[in-house]
Amino acid sequence: MKKPKRLTFDELFDLVALFFSCRGTCDRLRTATVIRDANNVVIAAGYNGALPGDPHCDDVGHLVVNGHCLRTNHGEENAILNCVDLSRVKGGIVTIIGSPCFPCARKLAALGPKKIRYIGTYGNAQGGKLVSELCKRRGITLEYITVEEVLASMKKAMEFAQGPGGPLKDFFVRLDHVELRTKEDA
Ligand SMILES: [Zn+2]
Ligand SMILES: [Zn+2]
Repeated sequence: MKKPKRLTFDELFDLVALFFSCRGTCDRLRTATVIRDANNVVIAAGYNGALPGDPHCDDVGHLVVNGHCLRTNHGEENAILNCVDLSRVKGGIVTIIGSPCFPCARKLAALGPKKIRYIGTYGNAQGGKLVSELCKRRGITLEYITVEEVLASMKKAMEFAQGPGGPLKDFFVRLDHVELRTKEDA
């Protein structure tokens, strides 16, 4: 049996972002953001949701104004609010589920990360072209990651976790059958 491979930092943080999005409470898009510093140390994470104690979209419906749901803080905003040392964002890497909206990208850009990676696109995000122009102007690399790439990382992670010393070493789980869902299946 060939030795399972360890995740790269990019693969790891893509998966962390994916798992954080599983706490999101607005089903227009369950998003999340993970921020690491220049040394690949995680310094903040957040997912989209209403304020603690307030009703969630999933329970009471969306709060739509001009085609956008305003009930939640976006994952990017919550990651920034959760970050205890914003100075460490400088030179770091931000990983986001879905293309960021312009107001979130602007807040992140102000903190000076060297790269923003976003997984999959969100059609309703405001200002896609503005985001790419902003990043270019500020010297921030904007990197698009496909959901398929994240699934490949998930498979790699599962194989590693079942390898020697892994927490799933006594289990057999395989992520071999992955099928793209079409609208008719939904
Ligand atoms: Zn909502
Ligand atoms: Zn946003």
